[in-house]
Amino acid sequence: MRRPLVIANWKMYTSFSDAVVLSTAIRDGVENISGLEIILCPPAVWLTEIVHIIHKNINHLSLGAQNIHYMNEGEFTGEISAPMIRDIAKYVIIGHSERRKNFDEDLPIISRKVAAAIDASLSPIICVGEKKQSQGSASEVVKELKEEISDIKKEDYKNLIIAYEPVWAIGSEEPATPEYAARIITALREVVHFETPILYGGSVDAANVYKFVSRPEIDGVLVGRSGLKAKEFIKICRIVAEYKKIV
Ligand code: PEP
Repeated sequence: MRRPLVIANWKMYTSFSDAVVLSTAIRDGVENISGLEIILCPPAVWLTEIVHIIHKNINHLSLGAQNIHYMNEGEFTGEISAPMIRDIAKYVIIGHSERRKNFDEDLPIISRKVAAAIDASLSPIICVGEKKQSQGSASEVVKELKEEISDIKKEDYKNLIIAYEPVWAIGSEEPATPEYAARIITALREVVHFETPILYGGSVDAANVYKFVSRPEIDGVLVGRSGLKAKEFIKICRIVAEYKKIV
């Protein structure tokens, strides 16, 4: 069975003290929630502090980075490699739409990053999603995912996490409908291993999360804004755990 997941992408938010307060509140709030894995992806500079905060007797709470370089080391000022992250985190987000848009990351770069993560024994959280709302055709997104994982072996597919994030639904007021998301996710499922979790991301909050996770096709959620509010995020985790226990 696939494990349910909730992932928080903190993006370029939080001061040092905000990060400590938020991760401590989340750790305490999710301590007694079972049946899912929760992954926090704070800014890389706070990872080494947060790793000490969250690893107090909780093994369903993990850390992820928001980006890596595809080279392991070298003259790449300002960059962080997969082996560096592996020492403190288990996961890394790759191919987020903001990196594509603001840092010109294209599919060949993303596939090299996915391969670098796998080589370093990190699990990549691969973001895929169409820029404009389609009529529900999955072909663009499926093609994108196939290219993103083209540099890794099939036997590594089970170590991937896929986040279906329609770009038009990220940071907006309107998420995709659960039916729309489930249709695309069903098509993505054909590409990966049956154990690969596939999540939905895009304007998820505590009020609408049940609509997504009540669908068997959707294994969890990736949140942006809702991951920066401890109470809201803990509520989301509780709802995901409840729904995934029933299904
Ligand atoms: C995201 O940035 O990946 C995201 C899902 O953001 P939000 O939840 O704020 O739409």
